[in-house]
Amino acid sequence: MREPEALLRLQEIDLTLMRHKKTLAAMPQMKKINAVRAARKKLASQLRQIVGQRKDVEMDLEENEHAQLRLHEIVEETQAKFDSSETSYRDIHNLEEQLTSLAKRIEKREYQHKEFTARLNKTKAAEKNARALDDKLVSEGEALVTALREQTADIERDMRKLALERETVLVSITPEVLKHYEAAVKRFGGLAVEHLRGNTPSVCRVVVPPSAFGDIRRGPAIAECPYCHRILVTEGMFDLDK
Ligand SMILES: [Zn+2]
Repeated sequence: MREPEALLRLQEIDLTLMRHKKTLAAMPQMKKINAVRAARKKLASQLRQIVGQRKDVEMDLEENEHAQLRLHEIVEETQAKFDSSETSYRDIHNLEEQLTSLAKRIEKREYQHKEFTARLNKTKAAEKNARALDDKLVSEGEALVTALREQTADIERDMRKLALERETVLVSITPEVLKHYEAAVKRFGGLAVEHLRGNTPSVCRVVVPPSAFGDIRRGPAIAECPYCHRILVTEGMFDLDK
């Protein structure tokens, strides 16, 4: 490979490598993956709350059912006393009042039981929804990770290929030109080399006047652009179709 050609290819390789590095650093999947992770974390804390509420209601219900059983036992005992022939008239009056009061307490407990059951169904539905949403987030996250790996693999494969090609291209470039190139890369942020097509440099596009054109034409194949001071490859300047 001739040096001017090698220099232009070196720049192409380096620009592609720079672009790949930027792409890797700013993969859109990475942002999405982080968003899914954040959503799952938030959901997990909501789920803990819901499960806590569900357990509380379950305990309330259990306590309520236990109390109702106990009240029915007391009703049975009181009713037995009420029905007994040995009970005096005065006691009967007391027992009657007790039974009325027990009936009210049972009624209250039954009403409460309905409320607790409704609340339990509500928390169970919320829990089911939260778990379904988490399942959805998990598969969404897995798909994103797979896509990211695939895309990263393509870029990394290309970067390895380019790094190898770079080594072979460097063989055709003298240390002086390489040093000049490296300094220009720093100075121009990557785009350090331009080539002349006809009388126009490819990057700064300042048309070379006829007076300077002759000097450039007779000068070296790798020169410096008199306008932007990038490295100017003059070889192939008449290959207008390229
Ligand atoms: Zn220029």
